[in-house]
Amino acid sequence: MPGKAKLANKLREKCGVVGISLSDRDAARPLYYSLYALQHRGQESAGIVTHDGFQQHEHVEMGLVGDAFDEDDIAQLPGPQGIGHVRYPTAGGVNECCAQPFSVSFQSGSLGLAHNGNLVNADEVRTQLEAQGHAFTSNGDTEVIAHDLARNLLDDGLVSAVRETVERIHGSYSLTITYGGKVLGLRDPQGNRPLVLGEIDDGYILASESSAIDTLGGERIRDVEPGELVILEPDGEGYESYHVADAPQTAHCFFEHVYFARPDSVLDDRLVYEVRRELGRQLWEESGIETDVVMPVPDSGRAFATGYAEAAGEDGAKTEFAEGLMKNRYVGRTFIMPTQGEREQAVRLKLNPIKSTIDGKTVTLIDDSIVRGTTSTQLIELLYEAGAEEVHVRIGSPPIIAPCYMGIDMKTREELIAADQSIADIRDEIGADSLQYISIDAITEALGRSETDLCLGCVTGEYPYDIEGEERDRDISRPDLDVPEGAAD
Ligand code: SF4
Repeated sequence: MPGKAKLANKLREKCGVVGISLSDRDAARPLYYSLYALQHRGQESAGIVTHDGFQQHEHVEMGLVGDAFDEDDIAQLPGPQGIGHVRYPTAGGVNECCAQPFSVSFQSGSLGLAHNGNLVNADEVRTQLEAQGHAFTSNGDTEVIAHDLARNLLDDGLVSAVRETVERIHGSYSLTITYGGKVLGLRDPQGNRPLVLGEIDDGYILASESSAIDTLGGERIRDVEPGELVILEPDGEGYESYHVADAPQTAHCFFEHVYFARPDSVLDDRLVYEVRRELGRQLWEESGIETDVVMPVPDSGRAFATGYAEAAGEDGAKTEFAEGLMKNRYVGRTFIMPTQGEREQAVRLKLNPIKSTIDGKTVTLIDDSIVRGTTSTQLIELLYEAGAEEVHVRIGSPPIIAPCYMGIDMKTREELIAADQSIADIRDEIGADSLQYISIDAITEALGRSETDLCLGCVTGEYPYDIEGEERDRDISRPDLDVPEGAAD
């Protein structure tokens, strides 16, 4: 049967969020541009909610940012404050009910909420709220946060209400929120997902990545701290900061630096491109092999391959950096394939080898990660067909052996080639002459962080959150909620 298929066996980022408060012009257009800058973080839906001082306005559509909005849509989003979201579905379904920002109206006002991350106790909080009479319209965890916050706002001021919600929810979240003409940014107590604060000409911005701030010609001020609530002033004149939760350690997702974030973004004070280049250098130190050429899998392997080739050159190796695979930028994320048997066609549609760079050469191929292994197998076949004499594969992350529960599209061990196979077995399965992954030590060194300040769950099988049926890497437990009998985990 013909069908749409995912083109690449890559990890998929969860979502991107933004929030903007300006002095006296509408925020919709800068929000729209920011979402373009964050498009790599989610391609399923895009949305903006603005506040004009009296009421919220929203436009949320399935599709890419450029398809989800036209001039009229932007014109119908008045107000100098607002939030935006691009989404790849993680928790909740692939349909309009779970596209964001999520809006909820209640007795004392309305909230708009955009979420990057994933709660691991959403079902418990939802069950408790349902028992108190809250009706949910989606199965997503974002609506759970919105309802919990709305409930707390009935009895408390803004900062106390946020603090109470933070005490009840457990998992990964960077949020932007509109409430009563204010824009809020909140990062979970362990800072799993990125969130940065910046200044633009006539206001302030919160965004998943600093590249969104750059796009508006603004300046990154700093990362929002783990457990910090930032409230942008409604007049665009400044911001307030509140520390609403403490955690003894952080749990930054190391894959943000390795793969998800844009190379031109600064995350946790480090330029992503530099971190990847440094990882490439470490890859050479740990498992370098002298071949005629080293080439990246475009685009994700490029910074790693650059660092690897540099370090090889400094050691006197004759390994040359070369672009041997050209990417067709016009192939979307999914496309129609007639049969299962033609799936190998996918990689040829997306990547074409430059024969003259490869023919008769020994090749080192560099990528950021291997998930299922099917793309690696196909690429290695392509390189051999193009005349490669040897193909050695080097990977800029450790083997992915366990799922992610914090919002990455990687849900079961069955999907992961490294979950139950040795590196030698994987090498044989993908058909490489040699295969090496970078070590966890190299990751911590390149990021300048200790293991205990990172989330490494998918490469160690031990997580920085309390996840049912999984090991923890620290002393942490989910909040003890009074959940009625029969609640799901
Ligand atoms: S499990 Fe892996 S992908 Fe998920 S948050 Fe942790 S490091 Fe990131």
